[in-house]
Amino acid sequence: MTDTPVLDRGAAQRPTPKPGILDIAPYVPGKAKVDGVEHPLKLSANENILGSSPLAREAFATAIDQLHMYPEGRSNMLRAAIGEKYGLEPERLLFGCGSDEIFQLINQTFLEPGDNIVQGQYGFGAYAIGARACQAEVRFAPEKDYRIDVDELLKLVDGRTRAVFVANPGNPTGTWVGGAEIRRLHAALPPSVILVLDGAYAEFVDDPGFEDGAAMVREFDNVVMTRTFSKLHGLAALRVGWAYMPEEMAAAVDRIRLPFNVNIPAQLAAVAALGDDNFQARSLALVAQWRPWLAQQLGGLGLEAIPSAANFILVGFPKTPGRTAKEAEAFLASRGIIVRGVTGYGLPDHLRMTIGLEEHNRALVEALADFMKA
Ligand SMILES: *Cc1c(COP(=O)(O)O)cnc(C)c1O
Repeated sequence: MTDTPVLDRGAAQRPTPKPGILDIAPYVPGKAKVDGVEHPLKLSANENILGSSPLAREAFATAIDQLHMYPEGRSNMLRAAIGEKYGLEPERLLFGCGSDEIFQLINQTFLEPGDNIVQGQYGFGAYAIGARACQAEVRFAPEKDYRIDVDELLKLVDGRTRAVFVANPGNPTGTWVGGAEIRRLHAALPPSVILVLDGAYAEFVDDPGFEDGAAMVREFDNVVMTRTFSKLHGLAALRVGWAYMPEEMAAAVDRIRLPFNVNIPAQLAAVAALGDDNFQARSLALVAQWRPWLAQQLGGLGLEAIPSAANFILVGFPKTPGRTAKEAEAFLASRGIIVRGVTGYGLPDHLRMTIGLEEHNRALVEALADFMKA
């Protein structure tokens, strides 16, 4: 669970974090700057390359007259808008400062020391941070071919497992698993274990075999679906995430949610973004058009483009000196292009790249072609 030796914290010479806290590796976000480049191209954080909806920007601006006011405590304006847009019961919704906060709240509500969560080997880092803060164990199931493997997840589930986290599609892999597999996973879980389906990129999947989990939330007492305004809607700065879950679970988690956790400008912008079908369609069309092109071009350079259903691609590099992922990351930076190194996810030979506008994608491929030739 933790390597920290047991000590009498009361007798320590200075305040000492509880066991396990200092074993948590600090989260390292994607880089945003390159030395000497004034306007680098940032393809490192899966942000919406089109920016955000003009309607959301306008709505955000109207908040200027409300800065002195607390938001209404339960995000009821946004609650009603989401309920209506997706046909979901408002009482089953929970809102967070990004979906990151929702993962944290679920962990805090259900985990006690010695419990565990199960996730894929390349699972999104935020789940583990929250679990470890609860002095719970984080178990990683192998992902052969960079994909969630239901049987491997199930092997790690035991009587102390409280939640299984699956990002679908995954980050940083971009791969996804179909509804039938997700349902097979759920069917084999004890009813006491929560299945969290993180749909941060769900909107980008267009395969009919994909299931976002909303129907499962209605069918079962232990399924949670989370979504975010950070990717498709391009509102990452405002930190708005939400979850759809059984009503009893929402009521329990809501007891530890801090009041006013979603601010007024964020709620106004999110409601407006939700109504901007045109911006959403343009965002999806851009990714649908350029993702296959980019994958094909990268493959043509001898790189391994992992099949992605999200707004980014994970790319495998050779181990040959001069051709490695680490060197490619530095080379791209020298051209003003920032991509995401994923060594922290146990993928030292890969880089993750957000799908850009046409000129971005062409510049990226051109730079990588030069890198592979050099
Ligand atoms: C970006 C992302 C999120 C969203 O996080 P927010 O806190 O809502 O910005 C959630 N899960 C995964 C896998 C992500 O990549």
